[in-house]
Amino acid sequence: MERVGFIGLGIMGRPMAINLLRAGFPLTVWNRTPTKTQALVSEGASAASSPRELAERSTVIITIVTDAPDVEEVVLGPQGVVHGAKSGSVVIDMSTISPRATREIAARLAQHGVHMLDAPVTGGEVGAQQGTLSIMVGGERAVFERCLPVFQALGKRITYIGGSGAGQTAKLVNQIIVAGTLLAVCEGLLFAARSGVDLQATLDAVSGGAAQSWQLENQAPRILRGDFAPGFMVKLMQKDLRIVLDVGRELALSLLATGQVHQLFRALEAQGLGQEGTQALMKVVEALGGARARLPGHEG
Ligand code: NAP
Repeated sequence: MERVGFIGLGIMGRPMAINLLRAGFPLTVWNRTPTKTQALVSEGASAASSPRELAERSTVIITIVTDAPDVEEVVLGPQGVVHGAKSGSVVIDMSTISPRATREIAARLAQHGVHMLDAPVTGGEVGAQQGTLSIMVGGERAVFERCLPVFQALGKRITYIGGSGAGQTAKLVNQIIVAGTLLAVCEGLLFAARSGVDLQATLDAVSGGAAQSWQLENQAPRILRGDFAPGFMVKLMQKDLRIVLDVGRELALSLLATGQVHQLFRALEAQGLGQEGTQALMKVVEALGGARARLPGHEG
């Protein structure tokens, strides 16, 4: 059985690390803010004092931090994984970062005989908690197959996409679809509110038909309750959409819906709301429409 090291115990990483422990993997954890390791240690993990030390104890090292500079810091930095990892070990980066940065980090690791898979996820905090994430993987197929038992502890749909960076590209496709869908959910709810129909009845009806989606199922109820706490923060979505639009520019692609949602989220960031969940997109849509969509008892 692989000895797993886990770096980044944030909204996603913490429940994912717990699922690895429950699946029986010997687990070492490291987090930049050390207090966050305590909950994992009390469940049976051991804590390392640096990514380097964590890598010395592990055969598979998972990172789920924020963006490319953060992955570079924990993997290639002065106390990074690369200085402790044995030849033949695997780094699995589950953060969402650019495909190009992924390929560069993979090339640096390869110089030390360390494999790398890019394995970004979708399914949100709920998927991380329930072990039902969808995981899209880039890198060598043989390395992917070796790591399958680790992925199976974290997710339900695990898909090999192609070579290094292909997992991140698939994740960008996911984010394009999520962004457009979320805006459509917000517009639909506001339309319902302005029209004066029963919001809950309307949501129940449309959830059972062709409009069904993860965004509708998970985000619409939160919006209608006025719950804007983050499962996925606006500022992280903005990071992802920035990467999408950068790659789109390189590909000479017009990404109309994605560009609009990126601008709407910028308005939220300008109001200091970048730490709210992405469902807070509704606040901008409501401001534009001059109305609110809340269930009775949640108007406050
Ligand atoms: P989060 O709650 O903000 O957690 C970020 C984690 O990364 C924290 O453990 C943080 O450490 C660590 N970190 C950030 N920069 C670091 C650095 N330079 N050095 C060391 N550690 C660093 O974010 P999250 O929601 O878990 O998201 C993590 C990644 O998953 C992101 O790439 C995000 O886009 C992706 N993702 C998120 C979701 C979601 O629904 N939340 C879904 C799919 C994918 P501290 O504790 O010290 O701050």
